[in-house]
Amino acid sequence: MESTTPTVHSTGTSIRPQRTVLISGASIAGPTLAYWLHRYGFAVTVVEKASAPRGGGYPIDVRGTAIEVVRRMGILPQLQDAHIGSPRFTFLDADGGEIVALDGGAVAGGAERDLEVRRGDLTAILHAAVRDDVEFLFDDAIDTLDQSGHGVDVTFRSGRQRTFDLVLGADGIHSRTRELVLGPEAQFDRYLGYCVAVFTVPNTFGLSREVRLWSVPGRSAALYATGDDHELTAFLTFRQPERPLAALRDPVARWDLVASTFAGAGWEVPGLVGAMRDAGDLFFDVVSQIRLPSWSNGRVALAGDAAYAPSFLTGQGSSLALTGSYMLAHSLATHPDHAEAFAAYERDTREFVTLNQALVDDGGARLFPATAEALEQRNTMLRELVAMPEPTPRAAHSALTLPELVQMA
Ligand SMILES: Cc1cc2nc3c(=O)[nH]c(=O)nc-3n(C[C@H](O)[C@H](O)[C@H](O)COP(=O)(O)OP(=O)(O)OC[C@H]3O[C@@H](n4cnc5c(N)ncnc54)[C@H](O)[C@@H]3O)c2cc1C
Repeated sequence: MESTTPTVHSTGTSIRPQRTVLISGASIAGPTLAYWLHRYGFAVTVVEKASAPRGGGYPIDVRGTAIEVVRRMGILPQLQDAHIGSPRFTFLDADGGEIVALDGGAVAGGAERDLEVRRGDLTAILHAAVRDDVEFLFDDAIDTLDQSGHGVDVTFRSGRQRTFDLVLGADGIHSRTRELVLGPEAQFDRYLGYCVAVFTVPNTFGLSREVRLWSVPGRSAALYATGDDHELTAFLTFRQPERPLAALRDPVARWDLVASTFAGAGWEVPGLVGAMRDAGDLFFDVVSQIRLPSWSNGRVALAGDAAYAPSFLTGQGSSLALTGSYMLAHSLATHPDHAEAFAAYERDTREFVTLNQALVDDGGARLFPATAEALEQRNTMLRELVAMPEPTPRAAHSALTLPELVQMA
């Protein structure tokens, strides 16, 4: 087995071996963990199955407590530069006619401080903040984990073998790390009854800083122009009471499902369904939450979507990934015993996660009404919004106060 002989880390008063940690996933939770653990004196390795940090432009929000996380990381100015700003939001009826056009703030409910950035911009900024300080293994993944010794023996898909003191899973909603240490996804997955396809299309519509959302009961299509770009992010979202297992596995079944679901749809939807088939960057998934009884097992712990995906209906996935990663790294820095650290992480973070996951029960799917009655209610509510209300931040977004930074000697 390849040696991971620890290098020596000086704390000023004593010399102790540097603890080694392997993080699986280099998206949002992974680089955030890497940043803080490097800062707290850990020797960090990140393994990512893709060949580089994954781009992908759909806009995500960084809100509430997560703003303080990125401020402490020193990347808030870069994210403010990348902030998309409130687009105009136009709601369309079945034929593509305009129901109402609004400033985006009324829909997002964002506070002035909150940020909306392209997901790829956030991952690139996070990667740049750590790439010189930690080891990245791209194009590889964890194959097996063995905790029977004094550390975690890891076999990678590439065949390499190494031992780490700790392994942290930041590998997303379908986490392989979670499956290896806690079991199959099905037992932890709360399916919310929707599917979503996200992909890029050319901006042949001449849209600029604008969202166009077409809805009929149970089906929605959207085009999002984050700037004056040549490209738009297209979304197809639909109600699907049973989890579509074949469509998750098989691209042909996936396209058949989307095509039959949107058959006969108006507006630009037929063209979007066709574009989805040829999209090079298609993201297709069920809309689900992950709810785990415990976020760790032995020397392995989870953060971000792997541990507590809230679903995009809450708009809080990135903020939970940033905040939860800060909390996990902080707990490891303040508790030399990993079991105590993992217990503290969970004790101090779980309520925040629960409050944010609960946002989905509080109108999270209101943008995508499943019935004609719910759609009419939504449209009536939207028509009343023409005079813009002040955006109100949700209490859940800021329901955790970060502990102070750990000062390293
Ligand atoms: C359409 C859509 C819109 C969204 N909008 C918002 C929003 O407005 N606000 C918001 O906060 N969130 C939003 N989200 C959710 C947000 O993208 C996620 O919650 C967030 O990205 C979670 O970050 P993560 O780092 O935990 O996981 P991910 O971003 O899923 O990253 C996991 C990483 O692990 C890698 N990986 C996976 N498996 C392995 C493996 N076996 N080995 C090694 N690497 C692996 C992946 O390639 C990826 O890089 C949205 C999501 C979608 C799909």
